[in-house]
Amino acid sequence: MNRITSYFKSLLLIELLGGLWLTLKYLFRPKYTVMYPMEKIPQSHRFRGIHALRRYPNGEERCIACKLCEAVCPALAITIDSEKRSDGTRRTTRYDIDLFKCIYCGFCEESCPVDSIVETHVLEYHFDARGQNVVTKPQLLAIGDRLEAELAERRQLDARFR
Ligand code: SF4
Ligand code: SF4
Repeated sequence: MNRITSYFKSLLLIELLGGLWLTLKYLFRPKYTVMYPMEKIPQSHRFRGIHALRRYPNGEERCIACKLCEAVCPALAITIDSEKRSDGTRRTTRYDIDLFKCIYCGFCEESCPVDSIVETHVLEYHFDARGQNVVTKPQLLAIGDRLEAELAERRQLDARFR
């Protein structure tokens, strides 16, 4: 039955006419122009901008160098080196993200068992020189330190869906 309905819909160009009607309807409505960057559109708390590495309240890095984010990244944008500390815990010695490779899919964030690597709301950033597209661990931690309050709030808002 669905196939017959779909056949007649395509024969009578119903969807095309529906699309044209929508265009006609919006042709006479007031236009919206967002005066970016002075004006900004609302942003979801799930927006995926530049990455950050988070710390626990006592200042300890959350990342335990499990490398799940590196393994799951479809763009192979993450590079991690790690070592064992004297207390037996494992931490990264290198955590690089190549932002030219990154497709902002959010898989790294999803896979992290300790909410360490996250994506922030920040979408306005630029590079002045070759190589700056690779953000390093100190840079990612600095972003995390600066935005921690907001990152914690975003996690809270999303907690019941995770
Ligand atoms: S957002 Fe996606 S592509 Fe970018 S680093 Fe994370 S997993 Fe890789
Ligand atoms: S950021 Fe998270 S997923 Fe990636 S290595 Fe660290 S703990 Fe593992």
